Amino acid sequence: MEEKELICVNCPMGCRVRVQLEGNTVISVTGNQCPRGKKYAEQESICPMRILTSTVTVENGQHRVLPVITSAEIPLSMMEDAMKEIRRVSVRAPITMDQVIIHDLLGTGADVIASRSMAER
Ligand code: SF4
Repeated sequence: MEEKELICVNCPMGCRVRVQLEGNTVISVTGNQCPRGKKYAEQESICPMRILTSTVTVENGQHRVLPVITSAEIPLSMMEDAMKEIRRVSVRAPITMDQVIIHDLLGTGADVIASRSMAER
């Protein structure tokens, strides 16, 4: 049996949560003060998820790069492949904030969207 200790980041309380695992199965979660902490600890122990922020090249914009962000968390284990996919993309201005730049990034269900608008040069 494996034991992990995590700090729950869902609120400023920052509870110290202990998770007992048997392989990829959560046996118990203790130390959380509310159900959100249990859900966070289970997810973080089995398949940690993160929002990804990056930039893509803009061919004819006011700036050379456009900041982008995923519309939802994606598995932490996919970050490297996700970055490779994003690096392959270049876009043309004008671009509006929240415009979808990559739909369903690597089948995660999350889109890559523009973090800001950008006019043509
Ligand atoms: S377990 Fe609940 S109370 Fe504790 S940090 Fe997480 S969200 Fe906040």
